[in-house]
Amino acid sequence: MPFTPFHMGAGIAVKAAIQSRFSLLIFGWAQVLIDLQPLLVIITGKGVYHGLSHSYFGATWLALAAAVSGKYLFEFAFRLIRQPQFLPISWPVAWLSGFVGAYSHVLIDSITHRDVKPFAPFSQINNLPGRVSDSAMEIFLVFCGLAGCVVLFILRERRRKD
Ligand SMILES: [Zn+2]
Repeated sequence: MPFTPFHMGAGIAVKAAIQSRFSLLIFGWAQVLIDLQPLLVIITGKGVYHGLSHSYFGATWLALAAAVSGKYLFEFAFRLIRQPQFLPISWPVAWLSGFVGAYSHVLIDSITHRDVKPFAPFSQINNLPGRVSDSAMEIFLVFCGLAGCVVLFILRERRRKD
């Protein structure tokens, strides 16, 4: 199913680890862009469900798209809602967040979906499915997300006291 929130668990953990050097919004935007392909297949009934968007090759282009469009989109949004403390989103933050978002999506879906071909169009091989059960992966990602939230909460409280 496209747009599973489980992917965000990995992003929240990275956000907790490197904080202002990472944009959770651009990470999430990369998840949405990658899962547009399966969504279009559901809507139109045509195409490959986990096609090139779910390969490292396709994800590279979507990471670039997420970084560039996400930087301007979220900077605009922060100006709109008057939150200048989050401005600007630097290019290194945008690139890192876009690429971590896109590549982690392919890696996670390569493990949980048999039809994902992570090295397409160069290879149709995927040896990862079945190594970890779907539920174990979901529990792991939920744990990452919760642990990341706890760390972010503690950091925020500490900053407030300073
Ligand atoms: Zn996906």
